[in-house]
Amino acid sequence: MAGQPVIELRQLTKKYGDFTAVNQLTLDIYQGEIFGLLGPNGAGKTTTILMMLGLTEPTSGQALVCGIDATRNPIQVKSRVGYLPDDVGFYDDRTALDNLIYTARLNRIPLREATERALSLLERVGLAEAAEKNVGEFSRGMRQRLGLADVLIKRPEVIILDEPTLGIDPEGVRELLALIRDLSRKEGITVLLSSHHLHQVQQICDRVGLFVKGRLLACGDMNDLSRQLFGGATHTVELDLSAWSDELEQRIRSLEHVVSVERVEADALAGSSYVTARVVCSDDLASQLARMALEHGLELYGLRPTKYGLDDIYHRYFEGSEAS
Ligand code: ATP
Repeated sequence: MAGQPVIELRQLTKKYGDFTAVNQLTLDIYQGEIFGLLGPNGAGKTTTILMMLGLTEPTSGQALVCGIDATRNPIQVKSRVGYLPDDVGFYDDRTALDNLIYTARLNRIPLREATERALSLLERVGLAEAAEKNVGEFSRGMRQRLGLADVLIKRPEVIILDEPTLGIDPEGVRELLALIRDLSRKEGITVLLSSHHLHQVQQICDRVGLFVKGRLLACGDMNDLSRQLFGGATHTVELDLSAWSDELEQRIRSLEHVVSVERVEADALAGSSYVTARVVCSDDLASQLARMALEHGLELYGLRPTKYGLDDIYHRYFEGSEAS
């Protein structure tokens, strides 16, 4: 991605006594990108976020946010960055609208503009009808959406969300993720989100950093991670065919000049009326392979393309980290 990074972490390290919570973290996050910090509990995600916000001091290294050193100028960083912790503190006995206006006023926004922004944000996060309800009556999902509005009221360039979907039901998760994505795309807001939910991260993040025991083990978009991990062979296509032929195998292997075909194998289960062929390759060849089989006069009974997902990647890296 081009341009100047909005978040620049350089050899960022945090030690608590002998224990290293974050170890030499170097990472760039660019404008408008949704970046997922993915890792199990205790990986160091929250500590990293706190250092970016200037809320805890690094032992060594540097965190620059919008070009500002977060440790030296935390207040300046705070004015540019919205932070949604995993549980937002609201005044439960006051309405959603009042809570937002209160935050806006703390950010020195004049009352009239504060009210306008609050109402428009409540609309934006789907809480317009709950504007006059006390926050104490809100579900966890509603609270998180209000949290997002609360973070956005000062018009930040970057939003940092720590486990934003924790404790929300699946429908609420879908809505919240769609909203975050929409905000990033329409308003160019840079989003950093921490999570230990692979699937959620996979759904909305442009890039992901895999974080284990304070270290960034891998970083990139899904294809980058797949490539790093599986060495190019990221797809498997299974075909159930009436028979198998050497000519067909030759033809599949001859695709090698356009895509990488790592393995072609075929076997028939005892008692089965068809042969299952498995092709491991770098691209999704499903329709091409189906066409070839038909051209060779074979019957096609089944076609199953599979792509290695974040699940496989996550487990592979985590297995590696445990072994070390
Ligand atoms: P979680 O999802 O559980 O919050 P995390 O990835 O955010 O996990 P951190 O909260 O950053 O992880 O914690 C990283 C490690 O640092 C943990 O082992 C934690 O126990 C330790 N740690 C965090 N804060 C302190 C502290 N103030 N003093 C000592 N150790 C700490």
